[in-house]
Amino acid sequence: MKILFVTSEIHPLVKTGGLGDVSHALPPALRQAGMDVRVLVPGYPGVMSRVSKASVVCTLEALAPIWSPARLLEAQLEESGVPLWVVDCPSLYDRPGGPYQAPDGNDWEDNALRFGFLCHVGAWLCNAPSPLSWRPDVVHCNDWQSGLIPALLRHRQPPPVPSVITIHNLAFQGNFDPLWVTRLGLPMESFHMQGLEFYGHLSFLKAGINYADRITTVSPRYAQEIQTPELGCGLDGLLRHRSADLVGILNGIDESWDPAHDPALPAAFDDRRLVAGKRRNKVLLQKDCGLTKDPDVPLLGLVSRLTYQKGIDLLLDALPALMAHPLQLALLGSGEAIMESRLREAARAYPGRMGVTLSFDEPLSHRIIAGCDLFLMPSRFEPCGLAQMYAMRYGTPPVVRETGGLADTVVDCTEEALREGKATGFSFRNAASEDLTAAVQRALAAYEDRKEWRQLQKTGMRRDFSWKRAASDYVGIYRALASPG
Ligand code: ADP
Repeated sequence: MKILFVTSEIHPLVKTGGLGDVSHALPPALRQAGMDVRVLVPGYPGVMSRVSKASVVCTLEALAPIWSPARLLEAQLEESGVPLWVVDCPSLYDRPGGPYQAPDGNDWEDNALRFGFLCHVGAWLCNAPSPLSWRPDVVHCNDWQSGLIPALLRHRQPPPVPSVITIHNLAFQGNFDPLWVTRLGLPMESFHMQGLEFYGHLSFLKAGINYADRITTVSPRYAQEIQTPELGCGLDGLLRHRSADLVGILNGIDESWDPAHDPALPAAFDDRRLVAGKRRNKVLLQKDCGLTKDPDVPLLGLVSRLTYQKGIDLLLDALPALMAHPLQLALLGSGEAIMESRLREAARAYPGRMGVTLSFDEPLSHRIIAGCDLFLMPSRFEPCGLAQMYAMRYGTPPVVRETGGLADTVVDCTEEALREGKATGFSFRNAASEDLTAAVQRALAAYEDRKEWRQLQKTGMRRDFSWKRAASDYVGIYRALASPG
């Protein structure tokens, strides 16, 4: 079966969060499951610099002269050999900054055009006018950036290629001025509540949810949560309406996240060489982060986008109570200016005990996840979350808020769960700093009992977080769509 996988991020070429990791790992897992999958991405500088040996598949001027010059290039993903199709359109994608934001932190003003064009190319590859002989049986869209594809397909004849949209985060919706409806070649008749319109705006994500044949999201718990007013971001009514076509499939983690073979780590370890390996990573991390060298003090880590979603303010508010205990913190993140400045200030208040790095640093993220004793994810909501799974894999029990994928992946260390050998971390229910503090206090008490702690670590390290299971669920959806009935 032929699958076109459209994404706006793919690690290691371009990544701002979990979508980049998923796009890196899921297509190879689908290929292993027998799918002929091709990945379509925009040609940002980070992508173009890695596809120097790409061949030109075709030009894209036919789509609209205003976007010219534009070409479709083909390369291959390293290791997996999955074909990568790159939309090379310098006027839209060749600029410094991130995939969605300019260097000043503001969204690119022409994002509707940048991702509208990606959607046009994706839809075109599904349709008869495309000069390519390869036509997908199913198109798999991801988040708002490819959300217009199902709408574009629905307005075409003959019967369109079926589509799936995966919601990685409902909070990002791609809502734009309604002027873009006609500018992007969409029929004005579809600009209504049951179509593309969302509170007077053109919504890419709503278009995807409305017109895709199936909707998936990245954990079963989040699939439930987004149907509630609390976490539905205004789209809960529509999602309830489409609940028969909505399913949560838990993300896996990439095999390269393996403490026994991770080039970013100063010392390799696994569940049999755990204590010495982690200790070495810990002391070197303490040095890296400007913390006092002390292999015995509990070291808490966090690697995150610094946003309200991630509950960074809960951690900041909990600091006085947490710092009353003998512990250290190693934090890595980038994001909202207010969070960054509060963290900087806090680090100054606890010299030698709190190390804060405000950047996006992939190798350091690995060293923190490996070198810490506990990993913090106090998220207000979390569609799936990958970092807590990496942490468990690296013998670093996570402390998480019980929401979304965090609730689906972390087994709270109750007496019963521990006795049954199921506990992998610590969770708390309410998004309140006191609840976070209480969960960390429970974790610190468990840390004192070395035997109990080893068991907790090893249970997490041995959990199966492979992509194989998720890939087989997606294949089931593709098959059902490609041969209905
Ligand atoms: P989200 O997609 O909401 O940001 P996830 O936990 O699903 O959250 O994925 C986040 C990914 O991005 C993880 O791989 C995490 O380690 C990584 N990450 C987040 N912030 C940073 C950072 N500042 N430096 C390096 N990696 C980061």
